[in-house]
Amino acid sequence: MDKKPEDICPEPVAVPRSPTEPLAPPLFVSSVYRCRDPDEAERLLAGEEAGYVYRRDRHPNADMLADKCRQLHAAECAAVTSSGMSALALALLSQLMSGDHVVVSGQVYGATLELFTAEAARLDITSTAVDTCDLNETDAACTRQTRLVVAETIGNPLLRVADIARLAEIAHRNDARLLIDNTLASAMLCRPLQLGADLVVESLTKITSGHSDVVLGLLCGGQEAWQRVPGVSSRWGLASSPFDCWLALRGLGTLALRVAQASQSALQVAELLAADSRVEHVYYPGLAGHPDRALAAAQLAGQFGTLVTFTLRGGRKGAAGFMAGEDAIPFYPSLGELSTTLSHPESTSHRTLPAAQRQALGISPGTIRLSVGIERTETILDAVRRGLDMAEAVAAATD
Ligand SMILES: *Cc1c(COP(=O)(O)O)cnc(C)c1O
Repeated sequence: MDKKPEDICPEPVAVPRSPTEPLAPPLFVSSVYRCRDPDEAERLLAGEEAGYVYRRDRHPNADMLADKCRQLHAAECAAVTSSGMSALALALLSQLMSGDHVVVSGQVYGATLELFTAEAARLDITSTAVDTCDLNETDAACTRQTRLVVAETIGNPLLRVADIARLAEIAHRNDARLLIDNTLASAMLCRPLQLGADLVVESLTKITSGHSDVVLGLLCGGQEAWQRVPGVSSRWGLASSPFDCWLALRGLGTLALRVAQASQSALQVAELLAADSRVEHVYYPGLAGHPDRALAAAQLAGQFGTLVTFTLRGGRKGAAGFMAGEDAIPFYPSLGELSTTLSHPESTSHRTLPAAQRQALGISPGTIRLSVGIERTETILDAVRRGLDMAEAVAAATD
């Protein structure tokens, strides 16, 4: 047949087959896959036969990434979603229905708290926000309608550590499931399912991808909690982008090295800050004065994480000074980058809270949250020392 150029251009391309396998995973961007006949289409869509049909339901790059994460958490099931928030939405929508009640830590990520309180209320799901570090308060907040307890392995920015095993006991005694957001720990420091949690969420955007170029989420859990997960993900349209999955899988290759390097630097940064009189308080679970030091030592695989929070005596001016130098640690309101960055909770993550509530959480105008990167430890310590000098100079000059 003599094909015309106008027909050749739009024609589906034959993907080359090879008996040899590529080492790096291919990127599958196709939104749809060809079905041979109606019987095959039905079997594929019903999940009776392995294969792909439509990207919003499943795609190979999400499956490759989900399988790695499933192994990391020793989970039966894992799903990758378009963001950390969509993984949390997937947990909410798959586990709860109107009339249910959720107990949520008041110190979780701001958008998470809004999701499980304000957004959940619109679906007639009631909630109680508690301090999940207070196990009695958490237990007392559970009602006969409670189906989910939500907490974070390590909270931001004060880096309180959740006692996952005991929270799981409380949740199960009350006929509820425990959902743990493990974003700040990553699977390198903690595997919450091993400690009794029923579901784990991570924002892969942060430490796990680690290169500040993807937005993705992860939900892991056991078979019995999984029944509604694939259907909810498909119907509410929570699927991930193949390219983001491809990048995340690439970043994940160095996760162990990055977390080990940054965690050991973070401990030294915390010790340096704790010994400096210009610093009012340091929050780091590896320091002797931290309220969860012992729990962290037992639960976090011998490391204490890559974040360090501290409060400068110089208040907001001091904080601005810390960021002001030519080669200061840069202010990026996120975490888990390759390089050391910082954030300022008062003006970013916690800006919408009333000042009194911020104060009660321990966040003041001089509070800075460092996300320690993988530079040489001495390079990071030098940058912190320079920041402290600048903070002091700026606070003194404008007084
Ligand atoms: C960033 C973050 C999220 C939300 O993740 P996105 O990928 O930004 O949607 C949820 N929980 C924690 C602890 C986070 O730090």
